[in-house]
Amino acid sequence: MLNISGLDSGYVIDHIPAGMAMEIYGYLKLDHYEESVAIIQNAKSTKMGKKDIIKIEKIPENLNLDLLSIFSDSITINVIQNGIITKKIKPELPSIVNDVFKCKNPRCITTEERNLRHIFKLTDKATKTYRCLYCEQAYKLH
Ligand SMILES: [Zn+2]
Repeated sequence: MLNISGLDSGYVIDHIPAGMAMEIYGYLKLDHYEESVAIIQNAKSTKMGKKDIIKIEKIPENLNLDLLSIFSDSITINVIQNGIITKKIKPELPSIVNDVFKCKNPRCITTEERNLRHIFKLTDKATKTYRCLYCEQAYKLH
């Protein structure tokens, strides 16, 4: 049973691979978030051995939860309302990802034009392969 004590409404990001919570915290820019955020590291998990959990109070606007699937496909998001879990979200790989990966092709236009956004398109869902929109350089997720 997931411990949501102290959380009346918000998100519980669960089944984060152990050690990855801070990376996700940084990526979601939670240091700028004004409500309370709790990070639990190395929680015991029957499924994963150890896992990290992030609890976010109140439901933030403009949070692209699908992006969490980039970090790991084990991640699940519980939506809490009035102290109970009302929804479980399994994020799906987004078809377009902006400014998360950088293109590693030295001849890519994004290397020269610093103001260009790094845009990657999902080209193969099964192998989790993204390709640079400009030069087609592949980026494979772990
Ligand atoms: Zn490129």
